[in-house]
Amino acid sequence: MFPIDKFQNIETPFYYYDTELLRTTLNTINNEIGKYENYCVHYAIKANANPKVLRIISEAGLGADCVSGNEIKAALEAGFPASKIVYAGVAKTDKEILFGIDNDIFCFNCESIEELEVIQQLAASRSKKARIAFRINPDVGAHTHSNITTGLAENKFGIPMADMEKVIMLAKNMPNIEFIGLHFHIGSQILEMEDFEALCNRINELQERLEEQGIVVQNINVGGGLGIDYENPNQKPVPDFKSFFEVYAKNMKVRHGQKIHFEPGRSVVGQIGTLITRTIYVKKGTKKEFCILDAGMTDLIRPALYDAYHYIENISNPNGVSKEYDVVGPICESSDVFAKNYDMAETRRGDFIAIRSAGAYGEIMASQYNCRPLPIGYLSEEFK
Ligand SMILES: *Cc1c(COP(=O)(O)O)cnc(C)c1O
Repeated sequence: MFPIDKFQNIETPFYYYDTELLRTTLNTINNEIGKYENYCVHYAIKANANPKVLRIISEAGLGADCVSGNEIKAALEAGFPASKIVYAGVAKTDKEILFGIDNDIFCFNCESIEELEVIQQLAASRSKKARIAFRINPDVGAHTHSNITTGLAENKFGIPMADMEKVIMLAKNMPNIEFIGLHFHIGSQILEMEDFEALCNRINELQERLEEQGIVVQNINVGGGLGIDYENPNQKPVPDFKSFFEVYAKNMKVRHGQKIHFEPGRSVVGQIGTLITRTIYVKKGTKKEFCILDAGMTDLIRPALYDAYHYIENISNPNGVSKEYDVVGPICESSDVFAKNYDMAETRRGDFIAIRSAGAYGEIMASQYNCRPLPIGYLSEEFK
């Protein structure tokens, strides 16, 4: 599966992106949304902004979901049209907002009254109208890691449901603001479809509330959050987009002419990426053996940051006898651990070790701590 003979002369660690799988994933998404005429998908750039990966995603026709001015810039450079760019974030700076206005992005997902006022001022300074949707905090808890739930009541993200009518009325009275919809995002790595169903029910409630006051919502953006199977990257390389889109089709009461927007990140790129690293030493402790890699938390921080599990395999010795290791990195931090008491084919110094399902929140979260170089990302087709 991995062209290890071609890896010999490349410096490790590096990210390897399976573009065939990326294209299959994008085709699956396009086939599924093709069943619904009102679905639009914006890829969440923050999951992986490698320019070569972004280019393939933009060529598949998806839009982009950005959370900073530089992400908008990266999206435009990768060929995403401004008319398909949405921009969320709790603390957009004036410079970032102006960049969005000057480029005529599709929509600002506005997260506070304070921000609404600033967008109004800045749009006025350019004699333009900015399209905005309000990010409403739906108080729907997702069954995922507490650091990545975002939809609970008291949270830095979004606007409380109780304030929804008030902010919409304010927006409607602003000359340089066009209110075009509502935005939600309940969290990440969600595998229980009931969580998305709960969001649908909440959206239905809110829409009824708004209709009683004659407020029409043209766009509903339900965010991202679909999870991937970190335990079995080979069995389920493409996430279950069919069920994901169906949950919304079945449970959300869609109004005439209304568009439904999605912002998947992890589910688009998570399984396409592998961190390729080498064993530097196999160190015998008193009770344990440590497999010490040349990749560390600076290259892939998810295990240290979220206690995340990644499937790890010794691709130089795939049929070797299984042994137990603590798989660790070289960084001067005790949390620089990929896995503890992990069963893996026996490793020797120099073996290639693959850390799987690292396409999302991997390369983009890399840092230079310990003066390390940033890992390079290669596409599988570059090895052909
Ligand atoms: C992070 C984020 C996403 C993408 O989340 P995934 O879990 O990677 O699908 C989508 N929308 C917003 C607003 C986000 O912050």
